Amino acid sequence: MNTPNKSGWKPEVNAPEDGMHAGPETVTGNRALMLDEPLIFELADNMATGVDLPEPASNAPSRLGGMERADAFGLPGLSEPEAVRHYTRLSRQNYAIDLGLFPLGSCTMKHNPRLNEKVARMPGFADCHPLAPVHTVQGALGVIHELGEWLCKLTGMPAVAMSPKAGAHGELCGILAIRAALEARGDARKVVLCPESAHGTNPATAAFAGYEVEDIPATGEGRVDFDALKARLGPDVAAVMITNPNTCGLFERDFRKIADAVHEAGGFVYCDGANFNAIVGRVRPGDLGVDAMHINLHKTFSTPHGGGGPGSGPVVFSEALAPFAPLPFVEQRGDSFHLVEEETAKADHEQSFGRMTAFHGQMGMFTRALAYMLSHGADGLKQVADDAVLNANYVLRGLDDLLHAPYASSGPCMHEALFGDDGFEGGLSTLDLAKSLIDEGYHPMTMYFPLVVHGAMLVEPTETESKASLDQFVAAFRNAAERAKAGDESMMQSPYYAPRRRLDETQAARKPVLAWQEPDET
Ligand SMILES: *Cc1c(COP(=O)(O)O)cnc(C)c1O
Repeated sequence: MNTPNKSGWKPEVNAPEDGMHAGPETVTGNRALMLDEPLIFELADNMATGVDLPEPASNAPSRLGGMERADAFGLPGLSEPEAVRHYTRLSRQNYAIDLGLFPLGSCTMKHNPRLNEKVARMPGFADCHPLAPVHTVQGALGVIHELGEWLCKLTGMPAVAMSPKAGAHGELCGILAIRAALEARGDARKVVLCPESAHGTNPATAAFAGYEVEDIPATGEGRVDFDALKARLGPDVAAVMITNPNTCGLFERDFRKIADAVHEAGGFVYCDGANFNAIVGRVRPGDLGVDAMHINLHKTFSTPHGGGGPGSGPVVFSEALAPFAPLPFVEQRGDSFHLVEEETAKADHEQSFGRMTAFHGQMGMFTRALAYMLSHGADGLKQVADDAVLNANYVLRGLDDLLHAPYASSGPCMHEALFGDDGFEGGLSTLDLAKSLIDEGYHPMTMYFPLVVHGAMLVEPTETESKASLDQFVAAFRNAAERAKAGDESMMQSPYYAPRRRLDETQAARKPVLAWQEPDET
């Protein structure tokens, strides 16, 4: 069925030279696939309305003090079914974890158990207001406190800040605590070291906090080069930021050695904990000498993210950094929970670097994450990590005979499998393979990251995919990889079956058009 519309908008029909989309030249209004959906403004009639309110009595006194609107203000008017259909049709153009495997590496797009969603929607949590008096939200504060205790226990760290709103925000929180600790001892160190394979947020965080960033090289097997790192340490190095497991999908085996060397040189160790999913229940970062680490609740402990779901990035701290953690935080006193704010902080918190957010956190993420932890238990969380690693290795071994897998000979990977574009023919690139995967029915993997591998393809299947689901994904990926290695030119035009073909991604990023403008009538 085609979309009825009132503004003269016409669906775009792919021209016959597009090959696979060559359909009937005249639109019948009955296409089975509704590939094109107009903007709601194009669809609607500005005079229509979905509600039927009585006109105000003509003699009713105005209570708006002369501020009444004089003209129509151009909101699109649709009936309720028209509005519902518009958004439902749009939702069908979206790829989602609830539709299929989502292979984005480094992002950990994992299944969100429906139990979490149910808990997060309980009115006591969902309707909680950040300014509600503390005695009325004891249950919510109790959840934040209990979640914090779980995070400390799982990481083996003594303190946690729950307020950061995402991983990158957590990084900033950790680095600001490190800066406060250095300032407290009158130490003006200026340099933060990041490995070459670091997530872009690491150097960005350090630079944002006013540090100079220097690269640490990687070894041929994809890990931090310990000797090069050690040689660079000195009185100017404030901290190192290391992701573990790293973005090549490998565990940093020298982490403890690195942490000891950094501490000996007077610096701090920041661990990017975005990949905690792969080691939770198996390794406690506190045992590895970490001073601060953010945890992406939205990666390790489910909770939706990407394209709209808010994240949450609590940061765990060592004894050395705990006094510098941000306010406010939840404290249990006897049976009740308190929010320690600037005004109420006791002397032992006066070294805090300050506050990061207006309010205390992401309640919806906290409830989901705690529901996830309580329903799995500590053993279940270890199983999550084991299965995530098993699934990634299944994908690695299902493709490494066909695709260049630069670190496959270093042994098993952690939670993500990394490939490069060596051997692609006919000028085909990782981008072409990614676009072809869309035609295979999958969201593409992470591409061109990490930077240390040419044409990188980073695949993270997560723990909840079944063997059948992985087999289907590997088969689709093999098909695309075989075509790329055979130099199949048609890949350059892919995707063929998506609502939109190849977009100008540079234009889209540099000149985004985010607001609808009424077309010029003249
Ligand atoms: C996702 C990720 C981040 C950033 O986390 P956000 O929640 O997206 O801000 C940082 N480092 C690594 C390794 C990541 O995968």
